[in-house]
Amino acid sequence: MSDPNTYHRRDFIKLLAAGSTGFFIASCGPDTEEKQVTQIPEKKDTVPATVPVEEKKISENVKYYRKEDPEYETLRHGHNKRFNKFPAVIAVCLNTEGVSEAVRYAKENKLPVAIKSGGHSLEGFSVNDDGMVINLSKLKSISLSEEDNTVKLGPACTLSELYADLIPKGRMIPGGSCGGVAIGGLSLGGGYGMFSRKMGLTCDNLLEFTMVDGNGNTVSSKDDPELLWACKGGGSGNFGVITEMKFKTHPAPATLTGHRFRKFKTDTTTVMNIMEKWFTLTADLPPSCFSVFVLNGKTAFILLTNFEEETEAVKKIIAELTALTDKTSLGKPQVLDSAVQTFYGVQTPVFAKNSSVGLYKNYDEVKHILRPILEKISSTSGMLLSIGTLGGAIDNEEFKKASVFAHRGYTYLTELQTYWKKEEQGEQMIKSYQEVRDMFQDNGVWREYINYPDIGFRNWEKAYYGKNYEKLQEIKKRYDLKNTIQHAQSIRTGLEETGGEDGVPA
Ligand SMILES: Cc1cc2nc3c(=O)[nH]c(=O)nc-3n(C[C@H](O)[C@H](O)[C@H](O)COP(=O)(O)OP(=O)(O)OC[C@H]3O[C@@H](n4cnc5c(N)ncnc54)[C@H](O)[C@@H]3O)c2cc1C
Repeated sequence: MSDPNTYHRRDFIKLLAAGSTGFFIASCGPDTEEKQVTQIPEKKDTVPATVPVEEKKISENVKYYRKEDPEYETLRHGHNKRFNKFPAVIAVCLNTEGVSEAVRYAKENKLPVAIKSGGHSLEGFSVNDDGMVINLSKLKSISLSEEDNTVKLGPACTLSELYADLIPKGRMIPGGSCGGVAIGGLSLGGGYGMFSRKMGLTCDNLLEFTMVDGNGNTVSSKDDPELLWACKGGGSGNFGVITEMKFKTHPAPATLTGHRFRKFKTDTTTVMNIMEKWFTLTADLPPSCFSVFVLNGKTAFILLTNFEEETEAVKKIIAELTALTDKTSLGKPQVLDSAVQTFYGVQTPVFAKNSSVGLYKNYDEVKHILRPILEKISSTSGMLLSIGTLGGAIDNEEFKKASVFAHRGYTYLTELQTYWKKEEQGEQMIKSYQEVRDMFQDNGVWREYINYPDIGFRNWEKAYYGKNYEKLQEIKKRYDLKNTIQHAQSIRTGLEETGGEDGVPA
């Protein structure tokens, strides 16, 4: 019997119907406008009694908030209600100079720094206990150049803000689907979505940026191609605080079409059969298409999107998916700006434990481990598995050389998602999550996507960065030798001055 306090199939159907593809997260949280607060009963007071304050120093560039300030409570929260942390100080920065002042202040006071753009980190990496959070929510500018169609963005600009600005001007950046995610975290960790198979990952379109390093110095990626390489997929909270980004844009497609297919009341054998067929069909997907397979309870759901003409090849895939499933909802081409909005998801904060559980090349690599995994997922209320298609332009040689992103040839990304409604359910739900995650890890599936992190990944350095971790350590030493900028899975230098062994403030 399903637990009324956890999300179950009906909730997800509502969320999916509300527009989320289910390929990432069924719910999107607030953006960084600091408007929505979920009051969580305070469990502990971790703010040091004597916060080292250069007494509320007035600056035009940055405002500091501490526990006694009314804004603090709202500011300390992000999208996931699972995290309940208490930074010593939250620095809301108004410009690059403000970030520089804040970092110097943190360094002088040995406060580890976390960075928050959109606050959507799945592991709460953008907030800490007892350190400083650099809040970039005021850095939201969007400036499209008429000369060369590049766009300069503030890192806290959300995808909904970005699409609303660019699409009417006929331009596009390949981002993700959820409207509340910010370009900062998304692009610095990679960034994939419905347009990536044609236009590359979000990071593949990053041309240059301005960064405040761990010493408070302002640097430009133009002066260090290796830094640009490192931040295309390895830049989230590692080398410094990125305050302005310049991206290449693409002509915006005129329309986007989404087709949905559902198979109800499945058993595991049926799911595996559909899945195997889906892997075969999507192996040759045209680059303008994207697909995701979702198992949610006993329902198998498939989304197929396309932003170009429906070729014979696409029609054939649609016919095959229709034959495989019980219900087909064929979409009509929808103008792009309204089509992307249907994928923004529900804007409500959630209790969730979501992470990637492997990138791989085909069904054969995972079929032998799937049966117990799918059984556990279909019998656990609030848990779902989604597999999205990468490949296409993502595997382009030029992009490969220009970025640290280590999983180019691995064309399927799996995400395990677990949701619950009440705080006290978290422990059990996380246990269930870990059980399934370990079934992947114990069976040799080890490549993971840093934007879907889990602090429990074994050998996370290799899982995220493959053979590139040591190179990233060298670059980290150039910009943040003492590890001022950090989170639980940030690059280590071995010369840390703040932070415990796992990066969490000691
Ligand atoms: C609802 C939801 C939907 C999602 N959809 C997608 C999707 O469609 N495609 C996809 O690829 N991913 C998706 N993700 C994952 C998302 O890309 C990551 O969670 C991303 O890190 C969020 O960025 P943020 O700026 O909103 O979050 P934040 O929590 O503010 O930041 C996340 C990380 O990035 C670092 N960071 C942020 N800004 C900066 C900066 N300016 N300088 C240096 N480091 C910085 C932070 O230190 C932190 O480690 C989704 C996540 C959620 C919760």
